[in-house]
Amino acid sequence: MPNRFPLDVPGLEDEFERIEIRRSARRKKTVSAEIVGDVLVVSIPERLSRAEEHEWVTTMAARMAQRKKKDRLNASGELQGKARELADRYVDGVSAADIAWVPTQKSRWGSCSPDDRTIRLSLELTMYPMWVREYVIVHELAHLLVPDHSDAFWAIVNRYPLTERARGFLIAKGMEEGD
Ligand SMILES: [Zn+2]
Repeated sequence: MPNRFPLDVPGLEDEFERIEIRRSARRKKTVSAEIVGDVLVVSIPERLSRAEEHEWVTTMAARMAQRKKKDRLNASGELQGKARELADRYVDGVSAADIAWVPTQKSRWGSCSPDDRTIRLSLELTMYPMWVREYVIVHELAHLLVPDHSDAFWAIVNRYPLTERARGFLIAKGMEEGD
């Protein structure tokens, strides 16, 4: 499929039909973007050069594509279903109050807050193999039972058969868990 967008933004074509760039004389400095149906509308100051326009549109397109992907995936219920399945199989059927994708954080795969029982996972993981995502979900679910990284914690996480392999994968990618 030909690239509809002259931009180097992964996944952009999956999320938008086209990009509309609006130049406004009234805008002095601010660049903004909004999603209108399948169209990404980026509004920029009129005085921006073509190079600046390209840079800004790339930045905004990447940000908005990620936001749309996150919303789409969270609404699909797929992650919630996967978490239930993994919890039943490996983590004593524990359940999070809320589990959701969040925009990619540079080098963090996600986090678990045992207090309100919420789990957040970086969208970056959607680019990785399924068994890596599953390991991370099992890891965060296990924190609902054991908040620290004690032997008791690893005894649970190691029930997932690809734990060692997934840990090696994430280390190689420079990914760490959050707080
Ligand atoms: Zn952990």
